[in-house]
Amino acid sequence: MSGRIAVAAVKPGWPMMVARLWLCLCLGIAVRSGSAIAADRTEPKRIVVLHSFGRDFRPWSEYARSVKAELEQQAPWPLDIQEHTLLSARFNNPGPEQPFVDYLRSLYEGCPPDIVISVGAPAARFGQKYRTQLFPETPMVLTAVEQRLVNRAELTDRDAVISVHNDFAASFSSILQVLPDTRTIAVVLGVSPLEKFWLDEIKREAKLFEHRVLFEWYSGLSFQEILTRASALPQHTVLFWGLMSVDGAGVTHEGDAALRRLRAIANAPIFSYQDAFFGGQTVGGPMHSTAESGRRTADAVLRILAGEKPRSVSVESIQFAVPRYDWREMQRWGINERNLPQGSEVLYREPNIWETYRWQMVLIAAVILMQAGLISGLLHQHRRRRLAEVESRQRLAELAHVNRYAAVGELTTSIAHELNQPLGSILTNAETAELMLKGASPDLDEIREILADIRRDDQRASEVIRRLRSILRKTPFETAEIDLNETVGEAIGFLRAVADRRKIALRYVPAGNALDVKGDTVQLQQVILNLIINAIEALAETEARAREVVVTTVRAGAFAEIRIEDSGPGIANSNLKDVFNPFFTTKPQGMGMGLTICRTIVEAHRGQIIAENKPTGGALFTIRLPIAE
Ligand code: ADP
Repeated sequence: MSGRIAVAAVKPGWPMMVARLWLCLCLGIAVRSGSAIAADRTEPKRIVVLHSFGRDFRPWSEYARSVKAELEQQAPWPLDIQEHTLLSARFNNPGPEQPFVDYLRSLYEGCPPDIVISVGAPAARFGQKYRTQLFPETPMVLTAVEQRLVNRAELTDRDAVISVHNDFAASFSSILQVLPDTRTIAVVLGVSPLEKFWLDEIKREAKLFEHRVLFEWYSGLSFQEILTRASALPQHTVLFWGLMSVDGAGVTHEGDAALRRLRAIANAPIFSYQDAFFGGQTVGGPMHSTAESGRRTADAVLRILAGEKPRSVSVESIQFAVPRYDWREMQRWGINERNLPQGSEVLYREPNIWETYRWQMVLIAAVILMQAGLISGLLHQHRRRRLAEVESRQRLAELAHVNRYAAVGELTTSIAHELNQPLGSILTNAETAELMLKGASPDLDEIREILADIRRDDQRASEVIRRLRSILRKTPFETAEIDLNETVGEAIGFLRAVADRRKIALRYVPAGNALDVKGDTVQLQQVILNLIINAIEALAETEARAREVVVTTVRAGAFAEIRIEDSGPGIANSNLKDVFNPFFTTKPQGMGMGLTICRTIVEAHRGQIIAENKPTGGALFTIRLPIAE
């Protein structure tokens, strides 16, 4: 008995007999004639699958899986699938196969399977070689076998072939199309008899490309050595994964562990012709489709089980499927989609952020748009407001200017009085000086003093004119740091004569300390003039005993206050809330704009104006302006 045979070959004897009986009983299979089995649809169909290398040996494991899946999905009968592995195919010098043959024969003698499926060339060869000993009457489907490996001479009427065609030329050609700068193709292959066969075949097909690209053959190397080489490949090299069943050191590589290790370490892309290796490790290209082979094989098996002749269901040479590429590998190796062969499919495309979060993005975009709309709306409004503000300031300045002209009427007497005084003095002093000069010995010192007086009076007159011009000047709103005491005092100076004439005492009580505020002198004086004129006008209507207007400036915390109070009748309580409204007036000739202008000017100075009645009678207007820092 060889240790290299998969299932321990049990010598026929009582234990084997028991095993066989158990197998038949378990499956509920009575030994019947073929036609009786076919007739009964509830009887399970018994299928034997012969594997070439092992049940987990890629790519054949994938072919077998695909066939079984198709069968289970489509079979109208219950299925009993028995699988056996021909491990001897893994070894270069396999031991004797006979014990394994004996084991199978004793297992199926008396209850042969309904069909045998061989997966891969070694299993096909084994099935053909031993069928007379094992299942002489049982039909066999040879699948996942390359057409060059089909032993046609020994095919019988009970055999169906589902072969494939390995078109390595197509593989190399597509590699050069996808990566046109490729200079070297390193072919990875093991050393099992099957792999040796393919080494020669691939070399033969590679000849066509030798003028364009250099081939390196990683056959006969240990897999460790292959890994070392693959980790330091020169630029423009690609790896072609042929097969790795048994490496040069005699190590068997099952599943896709070897390929995964290679993929992890290699500094070059890996191509293959089997889609069993696609989807994580290889870039792709024209490949066999295990699904397609699985479908065709299952179809043939079912037709044979239904009674069709095996020969008539053979499928010769399934070609490579439409080229498929792994998008992730393409990104990794910088493969341009434009270089792919026409009609290629690109799989595993990672959705971009837009595809993954489409709704969230739409929502965010909508919110951003809405916000942008709101912001631009607000900016637009803000701009309009600022324009309106500037315009209203302009209008205010114009209105204030007109208002000042109106006030000039009131001021005429005052101005005339103020001018008359210095002019009268100048005249008197000039006449006195003339008389003195006519004398025999004029007192020059006294004349000098008289001239000094004349000059002083002249300056006083000039000052009156300057103030009048300044208050009538049409200026834009301009702020500067000003002393409020001085500004108020100057405004009061204009009205002193008016008050005197009307027999009104106009008193000014400035704050003891300087009150610096930021403001426009002309505008603030306009406010004070308006309020004092209003107070004088209010007093004109009353017979009050003490007819006086008192103007006070005082510091109140962070504010400077100007209080203008009179002893007049005050403001009717019902009117208090309206006095600052435009066109509110109780005077027959009034315009009702004075207080409106006052309030607008004060607010433009970030200040406040309040109208109230004093408890002792008379109105009190308080202007509060922030002290300049
Ligand atoms: P006008 O002087 O043209 O009437 P104003 O806006 O200056 O316009 O004043 C509006 C109204 O406020 C006046 O008509 C008057 O009724 C009232 N007012 C203003 N100042 C006083 C005051 N010192 N005493 C009593 N009433 C006043």
